[in-house]
Amino acid sequence: MFDKVLIANRGEIALRIQRACREMGIKTVVVHSEADADAKYVKLADESVCIGPAPSAQSYLNVPAIIAAAEVTDAQAIHPGYGFLSENADFSEKVEKSGFVFIGPRAETIRLMGDKVSAKAAMKKAGVPVVPGVDGALPDDPREIIKIARTIGYPVIIKASGGGGGRGMRVVQTEAALINAVTLTKGEALAAFGNGTVYMEKFLENPRHIEIQILADQHKNAVYLGERDCSMQRRHQKIIEEGPAPGIPERLIAKIGERCAEACKKIGYRGAGTFEFLYEDGEFYFIEMNTRVQVEHPVTELITGVDIVQEQIKIAANQKMTLRQKDIIKKGHAIECRINAEDPNSFVPSPGRITSWHAPGGPGIRVDSHAYNGYFVPPNYDSMVGKLLAYGATREQAIARMRIALSEMIVEGIKTNIPLHRELMDDAQFVKGGFSIHYLEQRMAKLAERRK
Ligand code: ADP
Repeated sequence: MFDKVLIANRGEIALRIQRACREMGIKTVVVHSEADADAKYVKLADESVCIGPAPSAQSYLNVPAIIAAAEVTDAQAIHPGYGFLSENADFSEKVEKSGFVFIGPRAETIRLMGDKVSAKAAMKKAGVPVVPGVDGALPDDPREIIKIARTIGYPVIIKASGGGGGRGMRVVQTEAALINAVTLTKGEALAAFGNGTVYMEKFLENPRHIEIQILADQHKNAVYLGERDCSMQRRHQKIIEEGPAPGIPERLIAKIGERCAEACKKIGYRGAGTFEFLYEDGEFYFIEMNTRVQVEHPVTELITGVDIVQEQIKIAANQKMTLRQKDIIKKGHAIECRINAEDPNSFVPSPGRITSWHAPGGPGIRVDSHAYNGYFVPPNYDSMVGKLLAYGATREQAIARMRIALSEMIVEGIKTNIPLHRELMDDAQFVKGGFSIHYLEQRMAKLAERRK
């Protein structure tokens, strides 16, 4: 096992990884920007290294500075968390070439799954069902594009092969709008991801977002840890996640889960990962794979009792997984609310000083957050300040506990989306479960209409 791990991230996930390491008796090095110098988790680490000024491009994305920090502190492995460099194949390659272990998949796997066109092709080949569409990138010839759309049938969605974070996608309802949409998406994709490749697939009208968590070691073992339902989204960004997915029969989950575990073995996957699917009328359609730990991993930790971050570290240290599929038993229900520093109605980010912070507690409550009384939320990064999770024997109990926790939670000095979460816990559709990915936006549109 490693003696020392460097954490190349910030905020709640830096703290989460630090906790996993401390429990395993591993020393931690936290790298941080000038904006995060005073954060408590930075002080809690065994060592910390400032790697640059506030803007991420000069700090959390500064590869030479991060590798230099690992060198001067004698760390053996680097955990990238999520976001930032976590799905950057060049980074993982540089880390390994510099003699450190990258806690994540091999660079070639990240590259394969990071490009959505190649990922889709690889998954199709590995027997994972994908969204109907045409294989490969779209050609340049407009007549060809029109032909492809006709075979798929409208509505279609144009997606950037290098896209991520809910960006680089455009839905097209009619042929008249098609070519313009392709041109716009290509231009945006080139500007945002440095890759103008786009592809087309069927736009599913009422799907749910269901994802499968997997773990795979370097000794050909792979297991799936059940599913999460992440359908509560705004602009393709998840707001609430839960597991198990309400109303989806266990045999369907087991079937798709086994396919995912098999696919991991076929592509030589190593580490933790998530297969994201759209689910409609009893069918799963692969959309992408995240080759890293996800924000919502604690949902699965609560219902399976598996510490996903510790498993990532053990796998990276080349240990054989002791977990077998039969040992993974889902128990109870977990819900996660992402607490964002933002206006609950306009969603405009609200950075600044937290003048009062009171985290809830009690049976079944877990709070993963780096925030505290007096913490300053920097304007430079993602607006998420923490995650509130509720676990219960049943979904009803998890919701009841979440309602209480949200009523206890106090965050002052900045605006947060806590009021939205309070509303959603009482929303009839949420309480019923099984709503589509469009539900939240449709609900917001209805409310706006009523206010007029
Ligand atoms: P990203 O990498 O940007 O997160 P994804 O491919 O995972 O992109 O898609 C993000 C979200 O976009 C999905 O959760 C879903 O809401 C929507 N989406 C993507 N593909 C489709 C599709 N074929 N039909 C309907 N919605 C889609």
